[in-house]
Amino acid sequence: MKLIYTAVICLSISLSGCIKEENYGQALIAGLTLIQAATLEESQVKNAAFLSAAEMDKQSTVAPVTSQYATRLARLTRGLENIDGLKLNYKVYIDKNVNAFAMADGTVRVYSGLLDLMPDQQVLAVIGHEIGHVKLKHSYNQLKQQMLTSAAFQAANVTEGALSQISSSQFGRLAHRAISAQYSQKDELQADQYALQFLRWRGVNPIAMRDSIMTLQTKQGSSSGFLSSHPSNNRRIDAINRAL
Ligand SMILES: [Zn+2]
Repeated sequence: MKLIYTAVICLSISLSGCIKEENYGQALIAGLTLIQAATLEESQVKNAAFLSAAEMDKQSTVAPVTSQYATRLARLTRGLENIDGLKLNYKVYIDKNVNAFAMADGTVRVYSGLLDLMPDQQVLAVIGHEIGHVKLKHSYNQLKQQMLTSAAFQAANVTEGALSQISSSQFGRLAHRAISAQYSQKDELQADQYALQFLRWRGVNPIAMRDSIMTLQTKQGSSSGFLSSHPSNNRRIDAINRAL
């Protein structure tokens, strides 16, 4: 929102003619971003999330539904297909990285490396944290920002129906950018707090959230996403301890 507001100021300055010539190009780009932001509907962002997730599934090794990984995740997420109107879908990627991510359309993916490392309650804590990013619109805001700053999406003008002009490989790149981008420290701490409530709701001791971070500390540096060291693990643990 701050970015859009800045764009409004830049555009009005450029129209009034007060702007220095060397800043004109920058102001024009900001103005164009403003126009695109206005035409980018929530449904388009969610649709892009769905298509990006589908491309990620294609590029990844999805655990077969009868595999031990998939049956374990299905057991842990039973009854979590719809939370207050948010439809969620879950899959396991066979990938030794210790990671998990969620996207704005309700896609949740857990890597086998994380399932190998954590007991059930800690896996559920990570899932709660990821659902938190979706419910609190962190995933939505981040993907929207990625779309607005992507050359491919800017070229397509991101208007209604324009998503059809975007190739599957471009959706794949969008997914990778969204997954590897860091959330703000505030977003991470909020997702942890959501996870505490989520665990209580599921009848699980919320201390599992803290335990999952402590387990991750043993693997720090091997991946991005949930393993991000931003904010620091100690800061996350302190905030969780206060809430507990
Ligand atoms: Zn997070």
